[in-house]
Amino acid sequence: MTFSDEVKKTFITFYGTFVDTPEFGSLRIRKDTAVGVCMDVSIPDKFGKIQFIVEDCKDPLKITLQYDSSLIEENIQIVVHSTNYDNHINTFFFPGFIDTHIHASQYPNCGILGNDSTLLDWLNKYTFPTEAALSHLPYAEKVYDKVVSRTLANGTTTATYFTTIDLEASKIMAKTCVMHGQRALIGKVCMDSNSPDYYIETCKESVSSLVEFVDYIENELCEPLIQPIVTPRFAPSCSRNLMEKIGNLAKDKSLHIQTHLSENFNEINWVKELFPECESYTDVYNKYGLLNHRTILAHSIHLTAEEIDLIKLKQSGIAHCPISNTSLTSGECPIKQMYTDGIEKIGLGTDVSAGYSCSILESAKAAFSVSRHLAIKKENQDAKLSVNECLYLATMGGAKVLDMEKQIGSFEIGKSFDCQEIDLRSPTSTIDIFEWQVPTLSGTKPKITQLNKLEAFDINDVISKWFFNADDRNVVKVWVNGHNVKN
Ligand SMILES: [Zn+2]
Repeated sequence: MTFSDEVKKTFITFYGTFVDTPEFGSLRIRKDTAVGVCMDVSIPDKFGKIQFIVEDCKDPLKITLQYDSSLIEENIQIVVHSTNYDNHINTFFFPGFIDTHIHASQYPNCGILGNDSTLLDWLNKYTFPTEAALSHLPYAEKVYDKVVSRTLANGTTTATYFTTIDLEASKIMAKTCVMHGQRALIGKVCMDSNSPDYYIETCKESVSSLVEFVDYIENELCEPLIQPIVTPRFAPSCSRNLMEKIGNLAKDKSLHIQTHLSENFNEINWVKELFPECESYTDVYNKYGLLNHRTILAHSIHLTAEEIDLIKLKQSGIAHCPISNTSLTSGECPIKQMYTDGIEKIGLGTDVSAGYSCSILESAKAAFSVSRHLAIKKENQDAKLSVNECLYLATMGGAKVLDMEKQIGSFEIGKSFDCQEIDLRSPTSTIDIFEWQVPTLSGTKPKITQLNKLEAFDINDVISKWFFNADDRNVVKVWVNGHNVKN
């Protein structure tokens, strides 16, 4: 049979154990579950989306045919966990990770920080030269190809990227995401102030290249998975005029906005000097039209109570970037306190390359650790984030930050099927897990006398083992909008 003779699959039913975190702190486990996804391009409203979820299912094919009697068997693909290892729970489906803050252009610098770097000197020494170099398009192609494939391999199905000020290189990034099948918001960086002479735009150039970039994505690329995002680098890099102009563009076209906020004390003091007319750093973005329910604020570590209230009022989201905040000694963002204060739109960002890893799972572990340090320092156990809460930030929290909680972040009917298959015993896995530690699908315990005193793991232990011990070698497959993008 040739490729063209292959029967087109218009429906996929995924079958196995589904794990997700629909609420902050919750862990939902659905075993023997069939999740049906429409892959019929002639039905764009349903394409790539979950059509049914049936728990305690014994026959996924039968369930699929019952769901839609017009489907024929040869058009249906059944995807079962790659292995079940003698009926033990080692594999499961988990929602794709959402990276709410990553600089694609800085990927070559991952792991290069300098011993004493803090934000402002790190930008000048490492970051601006690297970003400027990507106006050489062959470099941009290589870097963007690598960062997209690497993040997908780590289970990131949606990412919110900064590129550089270069329009053509930013277009390459958009095409690269399409080629690899990743869902992405892509921001051409805007900066017309306080930047090196080799890496700066005029206000006019910045606005016109942003307009052209948005037009390119909306009218030329025309790929539903890709959105442009308005990206003023941070307040010190932007004139009042630039912020107002791009804020208006975002408003007119209902575009998301991303920027940095309150990362480091020198930066905060600098913003105070540059914008004396504003009450706070957050107020700069508010005054110049950049703060609304589609705004993503990276870091937001050292906020005052007034700034928290303003962010709540405007319903903006926060990208927590714990690896970066530790690496540049920026600070410890009090995420749990923010929740208590009523900010619910909080996700995770790798902040490559101030963050040394492009893995959201690594960021989730760092969020766990930073919260523990806060608990120690403040002698307050309430500051701690649990494993489940960190996994929520990595998925549903990120979806809320992007205002996409009805589309992605968990497994629900009507949502896109963005998913990673986790296998704790994949051939290259470095997790050592013994057969008597793993619960069986039926819940039975091994019948060995010496093991009677041992508590068999429950599924929460399996998730915990994954959370702390796993890496991309345990991400065996990834789907975005029903398409297999890592196999
Ligand atoms: Zn950043």
